[in-house]
Amino acid sequence: MRIGIDDTDSPAGMCTTYLGAVLIRRLGDIGIRVREARLVRLNPNVIYKTRGNAAICLEAEGDAGRAFSVACACVEELAEFAAEGTNPGVVVAECIPPPDFYYAALRSFCTIDDACRVLEDAGARYRGYKNRRGLIGATAAVASDLPDRTYELLAYRKQDRWGTPRQVEKVSLFRAEAATYPHTWDSVDRENGVVVCVPHTPDPVLFGIRGESPAWVMRAREYVVSEEPACEAVYVTNQGTDAHLLAGSIGDLVEGHSYLARGRIAAEPVTGIGGHVSVLLEDREDAVRCMAYEPTKQFRSIVRQLLPGDEVIVAGSFKGGSINLEKIGIRSLADAAALRPPLCATCGKRMTSAGKEKGYKCRTCSARADEPERFFPPRGVQPGWYEVPPTARRHLAKPLVRGAPDNPVA
Ligand code: ATP
Repeated sequence: MRIGIDDTDSPAGMCTTYLGAVLIRRLGDIGIRVREARLVRLNPNVIYKTRGNAAICLEAEGDAGRAFSVACACVEELAEFAAEGTNPGVVVAECIPPPDFYYAALRSFCTIDDACRVLEDAGARYRGYKNRRGLIGATAAVASDLPDRTYELLAYRKQDRWGTPRQVEKVSLFRAEAATYPHTWDSVDRENGVVVCVPHTPDPVLFGIRGESPAWVMRAREYVVSEEPACEAVYVTNQGTDAHLLAGSIGDLVEGHSYLARGRIAAEPVTGIGGHVSVLLEDREDAVRCMAYEPTKQFRSIVRQLLPGDEVIVAGSFKGGSINLEKIGIRSLADAAALRPPLCATCGKRMTSAGKEKGYKCRTCSARADEPERFFPPRGVQPGWYEVPPTARRHLAKPLVRGAPDNPVA
């Protein structure tokens, strides 16, 4: 069976993955073995999300009726019911629903009625609390399909520490990353010198280490020096896989969906107030603005070096009429010509301007020329893929260390 849970937390506390870790132990106590724990990220543009739009799915063996009672009891005990936006959902499915609903929740928007229809068709047990919105994420989690997968080891804090500053030695995280990268990633942002894997919110998570296998995340974990965790769990996830991206074309982008889209830079990038960089991308008929916001740090300097005519592929969510860049692939650079004074035909020295609309003059031999020289200055960027730094990375975005997008849009 698969057990799906979502929407148990609020900005003030709790985390559905922590609830999952508690549930794994409670199921084990009654002889229900959990074979796999999934942390499933859904559409990052959903407005109802508390933080990273996560839901969980536990694949387990045992009595489904008992599992459902224990899961509901766990949610009733731990979920943040008092918070207005917390609307938990619990699902236990013995027949796994087709993955369509997962892909819809990952890439688009779903309704509670859509989720209930899928659950009825699958003959699943389910319970939605309050406005029952959590059934969407819980259903998507049980229907999830992870053709590409990564892992996250999550360590949780003891309850008496919740809401207090976390004690995790920064240097130990840098050591963990140095010893295990590229098999683990995004524990720290080495270029910006900051820790990425320790949250600042009042939830039970102490830290989370992401990587390519349970063995690698556990190896990295051994380096971490911190307050004593209450418990730990390794989840298999769709994080870092680009599973949210659809192949898109500029004229057909839909608000709140995320895309890989191909185009040509239409105008020089502009840096606006707050350091946000925008650049216009066009294809034959349409154009869209792409944004590299200030938190994307040094990624903005790549975007700033683009020139009209450069052919690129962009990855990111289409929100508020622009694509928020997660990464960019430069396919070819335009031959961007510039003008400069010509070389003197007589003595070979570089001429200088003789004044506005007066052509050029050689300072050495006084020869004159009318036309400037066209030349192609070297470009600061090269074809290839560029990404935002770990501090700005979205959960679903695939780090380039895992490979560039496989099948970029035709
Ligand atoms: P955390 O990451 O801390 O667990 P969260 O960011 O996952 O929190 P939730 O509290 O789970 O946020 O809230 C997200 C809500 O949005 C849930 O009720 C979930 O069912 C719903 N939801 C998720 N994906 C979609 C979607 N594609 N369309 C509509 N609703 C969705």
